[in-house]
Amino acid sequence: STWSNVVEGPPAILGITEAFKADKNPKKVNVGVGAYRDDSGKPYVLPSVRAAEKNIFARGADKEYAGITGVPAFTKAAATLAYGPESAPLKDGRVCITQSISGTGALRIGGEFFSKFYPGEKTIYIPAPSWPNHKVLFTNAGLNVKEYRYYDKTGIKLDAAGMLEDIKNAPQGSIILLHACAHNPTGIDPTAQQWDDISKLVKEKGHFAFFDMAYQGFASGDINKDAAAMRKFVAEGHNVAVAQSFAKNMGLYGERVGAFSLITDSPAEKKALDSQLKILIRPMYSNPPINGALIASEILNSSELTNQWLGEVKGMADRIIVMRDSLKGNLEKLGSQRDWSHITSQIGMFTYTGLTPEQVGRLAQEFSIYGTKDGRMSVSGFNSGNVEYVAEAIHKVTSS
Ligand code: PMP
Repeated sequence: STWSNVVEGPPAILGITEAFKADKNPKKVNVGVGAYRDDSGKPYVLPSVRAAEKNIFARGADKEYAGITGVPAFTKAAATLAYGPESAPLKDGRVCITQSISGTGALRIGGEFFSKFYPGEKTIYIPAPSWPNHKVLFTNAGLNVKEYRYYDKTGIKLDAAGMLEDIKNAPQGSIILLHACAHNPTGIDPTAQQWDDISKLVKEKGHFAFFDMAYQGFASGDINKDAAAMRKFVAEGHNVAVAQSFAKNMGLYGERVGAFSLITDSPAEKKALDSQLKILIRPMYSNPPINGALIASEILNSSELTNQWLGEVKGMADRIIVMRDSLKGNLEKLGSQRDWSHITSQIGMFTYTGLTPEQVGRLAQEFSIYGTKDGRMSVSGFNSGNVEYVAEAIHKVTSS
């Protein structure tokens, strides 16, 4: 037949959700999920999002096409959220931005744009490890993908020296992908001092900093703090690229709301880049979906809804932080002799526990706790009803 050459590929995500669903144990826990859950384990729609939806409905908003680069009121607000209202490049009118199909789409637009127009070394360096989609996505966009050291397995901490050495040894003018905050999967971010060193080195080597900002606000509960590293680069004169997602911080996962932006040298240069972004996007999907962008725009363009949203983002971040404390506290109470301080020093959705693949396997088989083989657990899968159980299970597999 026509398709006899097509062989079945591996499943995109390694069957965790399937195994979890099939498990009949009432105590089962899914710590593989990459989405926020409330304290009863349920998906959470932010009340500010519901309020925005109500306003949009009451206004009788139409379903007309947005332009190629999306809903202007949304992209303008998204840029202000990322760069800050005082950002010089924004005030100068030299930031080009387009709406995107969430963070993934932003990264892909960026990848395609660099692949086509970047005059330097068309190699992007991503951290080892990184969000698994980075490698495939940038490869498919036509970039060479290489890695820089990031995670120190023995210390369960940042391999800062290795990271700097690899960035230093990358050919002049390479593209360096940086997680703006809440590095996925490790939950380990550079300190302010380490960011200083990275920024300086990237500058010296004439590299280009490309920030993946999927968790602004969700990591610390403070949108400015989570953008601080990226804004530092901008303040130091880096013309960065930024991929934003509103999946986590607004809980708009399935709405697919995001933005890709680039800082240019001048409004004239911005105009040229804007036109090429449109030429690039038009044959891919013509124009982006509007619903999620209208919701985000409704929130970001009303000071009342923005304040409400900021409180809700902080609520999500705080619950995660409380669960980290609780998991660590329970492990200590059980008498675990291990150092679990990384559970509370890491930030964002995930904790990189340091568990081996065998221990992760035992958690699934003996305790119905399902996470990824690398020992990553989604802290949002924990709640006051299961955190003790998870701690007991982790203690058992790490002490016998
Ligand atoms: N980058 C990172 C680091 C992520 O963790 C994610 C989502 N898990 C994304 C980008 C993209 O997510 P989305 O396309 O849903 O915005």
